[in-house]
Amino acid sequence: MFKTIAAISTPRGKGGIAVIRISGGETRSIIEQCFRPRRGAEALLPRRAVYGTVVDGEGKPVDDGILTLFPAPHSYTGEDVAEISCHGGIYVTHAVLSAVFAAGAEPAGPGDFTRRAYVNGKLTLSRAEAVGKLLDARTESQAKLAAAGTRGVLSKKIDTIRGELLTLLSSVYAAIDYPDEDMTDVPMDEIARRLNSLHGQVSALAATYKTGRAVSEGIRTVICGTPNAGKSSVYNMLSASDRAIVTDVAGTTRDVLEDCISLGGVTLLLWDTAGIRETEDTVERIGVERARAKLAEAELALAVFDTSRPETEEDREFCRIASHLPAAIALLNKNDREKGISDAFEAEIRAAFPHVLEISAKNNEGREAIEACIHEMYFAEEIDLTADPIVSEARQHASLIRAAESLKAASDAIGATEGTDIVGFLAEKALADLEMTDGRAVSDEIVNEIFHHFCVGK
Ligand code: GDP
Repeated sequence: MFKTIAAISTPRGKGGIAVIRISGGETRSIIEQCFRPRRGAEALLPRRAVYGTVVDGEGKPVDDGILTLFPAPHSYTGEDVAEISCHGGIYVTHAVLSAVFAAGAEPAGPGDFTRRAYVNGKLTLSRAEAVGKLLDARTESQAKLAAAGTRGVLSKKIDTIRGELLTLLSSVYAAIDYPDEDMTDVPMDEIARRLNSLHGQVSALAATYKTGRAVSEGIRTVICGTPNAGKSSVYNMLSASDRAIVTDVAGTTRDVLEDCISLGGVTLLLWDTAGIRETEDTVERIGVERARAKLAEAELALAVFDTSRPETEEDREFCRIASHLPAAIALLNKNDREKGISDAFEAEIRAAFPHVLEISAKNNEGREAIEACIHEMYFAEEIDLTADPIVSEARQHASLIRAAESLKAASDAIGATEGTDIVGFLAEKALADLEMTDGRAVSDEIVNEIFHHFCVGK
């Protein structure tokens, strides 16, 4: 049996109230020692808020608070759980925790409560991961996606697919075990058709990772262009902050800035760059080299062109480099001024980039267009972060891709009239990968890795 653990579950520091959580088989005896209900021990009914006093190892009062008992299995962890809400002072909170330790609880490690919920079957691994993501969410879209995950939207979808595959497998087994008798209620071509349909469902689910990752992890984005093209102004317009300093002196954005913003529901990890060009200035060169490296790593380029002056060789270089990234948007900046670039170069940009927008960063014109463009790039039609099953973890995506491949191979094996046992083997492999996606069958290392990122008290 697990030890009984306790931790402060609210953030560190001073607050109106703090919550100390206790979980494990000894919970009841621990609270009997360290909590004196104002109305006597019989007041301690399940899921009932009870007012009382927390006392230390010597029976001296530490603080007054509210205790709620959640007996197993109807609790977050599936074990007996007690939560004590006490005054949120820094000293008081720790004194209450110490009283709980003195009564026999052990300190909880990062994510221990959620890990127990997972071990006791209260949460699937995907839902536990979603809990972690909900706590980490910095943008509205991230929070929506994680909340859907904690409700098990993705887990339920995987469960349905798994159920269908299990039914199908039993038909395949029947055909393997009784090859001569007509035990198969389902003909092989029907099995092939259903395997194909499952392959379609699993592939479609895997494809949602494009959106899931864009929201959850973010897209490495570089704003690039020649000095004075308006990169800092674009950065400021998008991040609505003044972190990048806008100046008239060419080449003054020396640092590769990093920022995380939400645009059109997509999380952009932004780097501002100093412009790719050869330079004699050492400080400037560091910036330029880092910018070049960042461009090589980037997934999305926002290439800024100053349309108010004739293009230079450098502008052409940017046009060539940026348009080769997996995703790129050309921003024809300073459209409030008279046009200086040649029609030929503008045509070249329009031919090289899949998306071209005319903007005036200085006047804050074009933000909505950029937002809509980015949304369209990463959100498949009608995807709903709150209601649709969406994959947002690389681990889940990889195992879904493997499951899809096995399903395809299994249905192809029927077409190629391979042995039924090969079909069974491939379908079982697909089942194992599906179970891996949902964390029914993952290694301890993966489980440890996932919970390691949680905070103590969660
Ligand atoms: P960077 O060197 O590429 O980062 O360029 P900045 O953002 O620092 O802008 C260089 C200069 O161009 C500044 O004086 C900006 O005010 C100006 N600028 C930027 N965007 C626009 C625009 O849309 N219209 C006009 N007229 N000027 C702009």
